[in-house]
Amino acid sequence: MNLDDTIVAIATPPGRGGIGVVRLAGPEARAIACSMLQLKHELAAGRAVFGEVIEPATTERIDEAVITFFAKPHSYTADDVIEISAHGSPVVLRHIVELATSRGARLAEPGEFTMRAFLRKLVELVGVMEAGIDFAEDDVSVLPAAEILSRLEEVQVPLEQLRASFAYGKIVHEGLTLAIVGRPNVGKSSLFNRLVERERAIVTATPGTTRDLVTETVALGGIPIKLVDTAGIRHSTDEAESIGIRKSYEALSEADLVLVVLDSTQEISAEDRELLAVSSRRRALAVANKSDLAPDLQLQLADLQVFKTSAVTGAGIEELRTAILEQVSGHSVRGEQETGFLTNIRHQRLVEESLSCIEAACQAAKRAIPHEIIMLDLYGALRPLDAITGETTTDDILNLIFSSFCIGK
Ligand code: GDP
Repeated sequence: MNLDDTIVAIATPPGRGGIGVVRLAGPEARAIACSMLQLKHELAAGRAVFGEVIEPATTERIDEAVITFFAKPHSYTADDVIEISAHGSPVVLRHIVELATSRGARLAEPGEFTMRAFLRKLVELVGVMEAGIDFAEDDVSVLPAAEILSRLEEVQVPLEQLRASFAYGKIVHEGLTLAIVGRPNVGKSSLFNRLVERERAIVTATPGTTRDLVTETVALGGIPIKLVDTAGIRHSTDEAESIGIRKSYEALSEADLVLVVLDSTQEISAEDRELLAVSSRRRALAVANKSDLAPDLQLQLADLQVFKTSAVTGAGIEELRTAILEQVSGHSVRGEQETGFLTNIRHQRLVEESLSCIEAACQAAKRAIPHEIIMLDLYGALRPLDAITGETTTDDILNLIFSSFCIGK
């Protein structure tokens, strides 16, 4: 990562949406965007402008778009930022990214937009505080603690988001395991097939016997999901069947998300309750299947959200799919912007290290500890981020001190 490049990435979550956003940030963002767009009006800071994305070779129109320009430094990353909102097709969005990279933009690393946003703020804070310490005699004022704290918070919040995004980044990369559990004949296999049917991008299929686990990986909304259909979980004395049940519980314990299937035509049994209890301690959704046979049933559970489905008619399946995706991404899938996520475990450690130094700096600032000591924490927070971006920010800090304070002229 080099913080002076112009970077580009799709800013909206993976998969198909109504609108998709491609974001460019850096010194060349505006020039690169203008060379691939036909704009109705000049780009102006803070304004959205209609335009068309043009294939340069043929001057053919690729898509209509709305282009927003955020001028430096009043943008998310403190660089010039251009956002191209086009129609949400992944193919179109990828093509726009390719157009930008062929004009000199670099593909952003996961989390790089977020990283740029707060790294600049941290560098600035260090610069201002350094100046206060080194040039105290030159009337450079010392930052009050409240100001330091509020500036630290501006760094802390996005850094925490970046840390939280690690789980989602991992899922997008590696996929997630969804276990479908329930008593025999509640409709697990039928639901499994329903969830799989529209998604033809099957990566692997491992057939098993009824007593074994059937696993199939499908791309649900662009995210690989390993569906595990467990053999019916129930108490049994039959030895072979207990193996199947043990496997089911194993699948349940290893799953990232559990779907507990109930039969709408039957009372909730002791086994159902046990399953619900085990599942409610994890990320889980409950499904009242066979809703076509009991349309009036209104099932409510204390711990789990209940979805009414019919694997026979297909009713409720789409809502269930969406809910699964929302569970996966940890927030509402529709309309939310993904600002970037970490996928690398080394990066995650470095972000955590940086965060703990920021927290230490906050504590120090609150207790009116001398700025020299707070600086140690701030450099401690910068160092791991430098290790991620491969940048030395010291030069940036020096430049900032000299340019902002006209010191050493
Ligand atoms: P599993 O043992 O939990 O995997 O259940 P299956 O998927 O094999 O389904 C058991 C029986 O219930 C089959 O005869 C299915 O056709 C039927 N079934 C499954 N889902 C539904 C549903 O939503 N409505 C109705 N009416 N029947 C269903």
